[in-house]
Amino acid sequence: MKKVLTIAGSDSCGGAGIQADLKTFSAHGVYGMSVITAVTAQNTKGVFAVQDISPLLIIQQLEAIFDDITVDAVKIGMVSQIETIEAIAKQLKKYSVNNIVVDPVMISKSGYHLLQSDAKNSLIMNLLPLATIVTPNLMEAEAITGIKINSLKEIKEASTIIHKMGPKYVLVKGGHLEGEATDLLYDGSSFMVLPSERIKTKNTHGTGCTLSSAIASNIAKGLGFTESVKEAKKYITTAIKHSFSIGKGVGPTHHFY
Ligand code: PLP
Repeated sequence: MKKVLTIAGSDSCGGAGIQADLKTFSAHGVYGMSVITAVTAQNTKGVFAVQDISPLLIIQQLEAIFDDITVDAVKIGMVSQIETIEAIAKQLKKYSVNNIVVDPVMISKSGYHLLQSDAKNSLIMNLLPLATIVTPNLMEAEAITGIKINSLKEIKEASTIIHKMGPKYVLVKGGHLEGEATDLLYDGSSFMVLPSERIKTKNTHGTGCTLSSAIASNIAKGLGFTESVKEAKKYITTAIKHSFSIGKGVGPTHHFY
């Protein structure tokens, strides 16, 4: 059984964060493990409170896993603050961890800052060089590069800049552009445009978490990187197609294969 670790925040309503990651791992037939970086109080209407886990306890969680278990892939999501980022980077280097998917989570769809504003540069400096693949959405790509993105040309420019920050692959998710939900995968030499149909639903809570966890699952299972992304896109598209309401606000996607 392949083993995949998520390093991320807990979402009490189960649609995003650690909970979405573990559901995605199970749906992919891989064994899921979690290092919790923060606990959020949230529901389909928004995020109401966050408590960061102490960097020491994050280090202890990581050591407990890496001292004992071979990890086939890692997904990193909400990292909240500078001390958390530094602790994670140090442990990943110490244990020479490979196959790292970084989802540079910054702001929730409901507008809550899941990454403190002074921690953006630390994420860029400490986590992007360790990433096999980084998966920013358009707003995150803009925040990382300072480029205002309105077209595929600007997505390409942003991808090139992000690639220079260290990850082997950059997947910019174009879901927030008008028209098709086109993503762009860049490996440092060529661009691959990955279009997919736009699904009409308000229930998209946790889509970024789910996509990055699906990519990590596929990498752990031994698929090539491009194939891992393509398959993960199929997974999230189906998950959004079957999304549903659980409360008054933005509902979750459905996890099955
Ligand atoms: N909560 C946690 C713990 C997350 O990690 C994320 C996204 O990565 C979110 C909430 C945001 O979810 P969304 O913006 O899809 O609603």
